[in-house]
Amino acid sequence: MKRPVAVLATVAAVLALAGCSSGGSGKASDGKVQVWTSTDVWGSVARYVGGEHADVTSAITSPSQDPHSYESTARDKLAVQGSAVAIYNGGGYDDWAQQLVEGDSGTKGVDAVTVSGLDQGNNPSFNEHVFWSLPTSVKVADTVASDLVKADPAHAAYFRANARSFATKISALTALAQSIGRAHPHLSALMTEPVVGYLLGTAGISDGTPAIYRKQSEADSVSAVALQAATTAISTKRVQLVTLNAQTSDATSTTLQNAADKAGVPVVQVYETFPTGEHDYLHWVRTCIAALQRALA
Ligand SMILES: [Zn+2]
Repeated sequence: MKRPVAVLATVAAVLALAGCSSGGSGKASDGKVQVWTSTDVWGSVARYVGGEHADVTSAITSPSQDPHSYESTARDKLAVQGSAVAIYNGGGYDDWAQQLVEGDSGTKGVDAVTVSGLDQGNNPSFNEHVFWSLPTSVKVADTVASDLVKADPAHAAYFRANARSFATKISALTALAQSIGRAHPHLSALMTEPVVGYLLGTAGISDGTPAIYRKQSEADSVSAVALQAATTAISTKRVQLVTLNAQTSDATSTTLQNAADKAGVPVVQVYETFPTGEHDYLHWVRTCIAALQRALA
């Protein structure tokens, strides 16, 4: 259930890149540290830390681009080369980005899955969507802060203060998410894709997705048997909530949406990159928590 790859020329990003690289130092002529990220989500986290002393460019900037299947461009390669710090998700989520960053020894790479400490190595059903893990966002922000300090020591206090303020805001969002579980204990959700799994965990909502469906949805081929298992979990209300990846729409998600509508099980649309008009990680997370609260009210 992945999006068709949309080839979009991000002209603004090309223009932004022109003239900002100065011999691979990762510092632009205006003195700002250049930061590159695979997705706009990680770009926003980097922007919180880098603030006015960093220029952040992301490869994925449109909701129609699928980070799982994106193909990097010559422009992306140049952007990585001109950056001091590059953040990718890792865990097989954006291999194209990992390859670009690992191929450039002059750029400090930040692998969010590695930084998260969540991947136990041999777990085949590891959920790589770690940007929905609030503790991981703080760890990535802290790592980026350390790397920015190395690239631009003069603004060390500034970067560290930004990372601390980011962590404080994430703490507030964590408390907000946890309040859902306290208000609705013993909730179980079915995820059409494991996008927001970590946030649901923080909210105290357990994953009620049938194992056969989960496995097959990760492999992008859901059998009739697996779909039936998922549909039954919904129609018998073994799950009390369905999260639907709003960025993929296919026969499977339509079937599950219809089953939920019929059974009166609330559906929450979730995202793995920013929807149109969204540019802010904290706002994006807050919006999702609010959607969960509304759905369960
Ligand atoms: Zn995904």
